[in-house]
Amino acid sequence: MGNVLCPVCGTRLSKGLTSWHRVCDTCAYESAALTPNINLEAAHTHIDELSRESGLKELRISNFEKLINEIRLFKTRGTLLEVGCAHGWFLERTKLFFDVYGVEPDQNIYAGTRRKGLNVRLGYFPDVLEAGEAFDVIVFNDVLEHIPDVNEVLIACRQHLTDKGMLVINLPNSKGLFYQVSKLLCRLSVTSFFERMWQKGLPSPHVHYFDDENLARLLRSHDMVVKKTGRLSTVELSSLYKRVAYVGGGSSARNLLVFLGVLLLFPVLSILPSDIVYFIAEKK
Ligand SMILES: [Zn+2]
Repeated sequence: MGNVLCPVCGTRLSKGLTSWHRVCDTCAYESAALTPNINLEAAHTHIDELSRESGLKELRISNFEKLINEIRLFKTRGTLLEVGCAHGWFLERTKLFFDVYGVEPDQNIYAGTRRKGLNVRLGYFPDVLEAGEAFDVIVFNDVLEHIPDVNEVLIACRQHLTDKGMLVINLPNSKGLFYQVSKLLCRLSVTSFFERMWQKGLPSPHVHYFDDENLARLLRSHDMVVKKTGRLSTVELSSLYKRVAYVGGGSSARNLLVFLGVLLLFPVLSILPSDIVYFIAEKK
């Protein structure tokens, strides 16, 4: 049934916009009682992996380049673990600077990434690590929002970071424009965008929505010092329509309308709250 208490501040969560959505009235954290279906054959038939990849790859890679430059301001070498490394796009770029390791729970994706020669383990963090294993950098790229018990994961991060090790997290921002628009549409009874923002029905739906303030508060409660926060782009013009089609799903007429709407908004998007935020924090 998802979280009853806010994982950030402990407040009892209130009813949100749908039967599965809850919100914290104290710190604005949001939660969804959606169940992951990784490795279930049926769930995979719902994803259009190709459209997903083609719409997102260019964007993700340019975001990764930016993030790597930010990480290197604090750590220039050592060991780096990416939790949920998927196809290995991030590790392929960081292996120039770090000894890289990955963890990936999806069997098919894992097999492909392993074939690229990357040092990846099949399974979940931290179960697949040895008890005393420690890394200089641990990275979660669009992963933390999928993991039900974030406090347990952050405790494990501290255990598996070296002294002054860095934790790097990027994830969707509940203050972001796309998410705010999806909530507005949901209040007007158009639920499909809101469901897509949570990845409802996909193998690994989102179970949390944080913002820059409540996630920083959560990290501080785990004795992590936030060194840097910033934003990553959500849209690039070249892949905007593909992205909208992926998020919007079915109706192409409606997708076209949303695409035109976002296109009109494009010049102001850069000054509005971004849909992806990142955090670089150091172990105290
Ligand atoms: Zn809260």
